[in-house]
Amino acid sequence: MLKGIIVKGVGGFYYVKTEDNIIECRARGVFREENLTPLIGDKVRIRISDEDKTGYIEEIYPRNSQLLRPPVANITQAIIVMSIKKPDINTWLLDRFLLMAEYENLEVTICLNKSDLDLDKGSRLKNIYETAGYKVIMTSAINHIGIEELKDTLNNNISVFAGPSGTGKSSLLNEVNKNFKLETGDVSAKTKRGKHTTRHVELLELDDNTFVLDSPGFSSLNVDFIEEESELREYFREIREYGQKCRFISCLHGNEPDCEVKNQVEKGNISKDRYENYLLFLEEIKNIRRY
Ligand code: GDP
Ligand code: ZN
Repeated sequence: MLKGIIVKGVGGFYYVKTEDNIIECRARGVFREENLTPLIGDKVRIRISDEDKTGYIEEIYPRNSQLLRPPVANITQAIIVMSIKKPDINTWLLDRFLLMAEYENLEVTICLNKSDLDLDKGSRLKNIYETAGYKVIMTSAINHIGIEELKDTLNNNISVFAGPSGTGKSSLLNEVNKNFKLETGDVSAKTKRGKHTTRHVELLELDDNTFVLDSPGFSSLNVDFIEEESELREYFREIREYGQKCRFISCLHGNEPDCEVKNQVEKGNISKDRYENYLLFLEEIKNIRRY
């Protein structure tokens, strides 16, 4: 009996990393009957058929988590990579990624890359997001700064690397493991190539218990996965925290009186920028037409 983890899926085949090697497998027909599709990240039991030497997935072990986009099982955390400069950090996008991570109930670490370009700005941002309740690592892929801390964070986890294109995700992964030879480069060159090549979702192995998913898919263009306005405040950590002390339990921290969140924004304990993004997202949720 062999156990392993699905690291890649292409055209009906699943590539299962076992202790020794990667084995190409098919899924047993019974999964189709059960309406169960093996996912990347699934921990599975496989059997090698005596007749045709093909691997078969016999059993899928219970999942700890399941992401919808990209469809991956057993992810434990998200590493959100933003560059401080080139491209300039977009906090609206960062807050959007954080919202997704909170919604998916993932541990999350913010990685502020390209710290070599503007350390002061990096420090200010680090401070803001740490105050909001997040772990923040400042890195420079080209100067090999923060890489050990990043490695420690990845250790024994299955992590999704998320963030806009060009922020240095591939460069960082190449630093984390010198065996990786991920393609890096400026955005325009990659987008051009991207038109002709399809990228497969794939788990990269750092060691037996550590995997990363370099995923362009983990982001959402709209917020329609949020059904109620009142859900949003749960996904902003500091707003959730201070919101407990608002006069009204139903307070959405907009125009209500005696709002502790607004109070803390005034005092500077909640970042104004984060709060404004919260209001923008709230407005967006209000405007979603639901039929
Ligand atoms: P990805 O699209 O997020 O995977 O980004 P890449 O890893 O391809 O990097 C995009 C560009 O940023 C490349 O030209 C890299 O050389 C550059 N880059 C990556 N990390 C750093 C960094 O820490 N500092 C600086 N100055 N440039 C970096
Ligand atoms: Zn309030």
